[in-house]
Amino acid sequence: MTSTPVAPEALPIDRVLGVPIHLHHDYAGWLRDRVHHGIGTHVVTLNAEMSMLAGQEAQLGETIDRAELTIPDGAGVVLYLKLKGHAIARAPGIEVSETLLASLAGTGKTAFFFGGAPGVTDQAAAKLMQQYPGLDIIGTQHGYVSPEEMPLLLDRLRELQPAAILVGLGVPRQEYWIAEHRSICPGTVWIGVGGSFDVWAGVKTRAPKWMGDNHLEWLYRLYCEPWRWRRMLALPKFAIVALLELAGLRQARS
Ligand code: UDP
Repeated sequence: MTSTPVAPEALPIDRVLGVPIHLHHDYAGWLRDRVHHGIGTHVVTLNAEMSMLAGQEAQLGETIDRAELTIPDGAGVVLYLKLKGHAIARAPGIEVSETLLASLAGTGKTAFFFGGAPGVTDQAAAKLMQQYPGLDIIGTQHGYVSPEEMPLLLDRLRELQPAAILVGLGVPRQEYWIAEHRSICPGTVWIGVGGSFDVWAGVKTRAPKWMGDNHLEWLYRLYCEPWRWRRMLALPKFAIVALLELAGLRQARS
C-alpha cells in the first residue's frame, strides 16, 4: 500500500558541514511512494568522506544540494546529527536500496543496475531476483563503459524508463553521472549505490553487525582494502572539522 508522497521540501532538513541531509524514519518507504507515483528523484547516501569532499569540490556540493533526498549513510554523519539533538538512526544506502527493491517485487515497477565490474552487476541482479521473487531488474550494465558506448546505454534507458536506476560507479562519479543524465528518465528514482553491487554479488562482504553497531565499519573497510587509507584520512579530518563547527569555532559551507 502506498500513501501520498511527501515532497522533499516538506521533509525536515539539517546540514552536515554545510551539506543538506533529510531527516526521516523510513527512507525506503518514502522512496517507494515516489516510485509508485513516478516522481523523479536523485538519492545521495552521505557519509563523512563525502561531506568532506563536498567542501572541496564545488560541483559535488552543488549536485548534492539539488538532490531530492540525502540520507545518513555513515556513522560519522549520524553521530554529528545526534550531537545536534536529532534522534536519527543510520540508514546505510545498501539497506535502503535493497528494501526499496524488495518492495517493488510483484508491483510491475522495474529496476536497472549500472556500475560495478563486468559480470558482477549481472550476478548482483540475479541474486536479488532469486531472493525477491517478482523483482523485475530489466537490465544491467557494468560500469566500465567507453565514451563511444555511452550513447547506447542512454538510448536503452530512454526506451526502458525503469522505475528505479541504481548507479554504482563510486563517489563522486556516480553523483555526477546521475545529475547529468537523469532528465532522460524524468519519473525515475536514481540512487548512487557505491560498491553495493559487489556486496550483493558476493564479491565483497560488509562489516559484521557488531562492528556496524559500534560505528566501526570504517575499520573493517580499512582492514579489507588497506589501499584506501589515504582516502580514509577524511574521517579524522571530518571529526575535527565537525567538532570545531559544533563548538562554533568554524563556519560551515553555506
Ligand atoms: N566502478 C565502476 N566504474 C568505474 C569505477 C568504479 O563501475 O569507472 C565501480 C567499482 O567496480 C565498484 C564501485 O564502482 O563496484 C565503487 O565502489 P566503492 O566501494 O569504491 O564506492 P564508494 O566508496 O566510492 O562509494
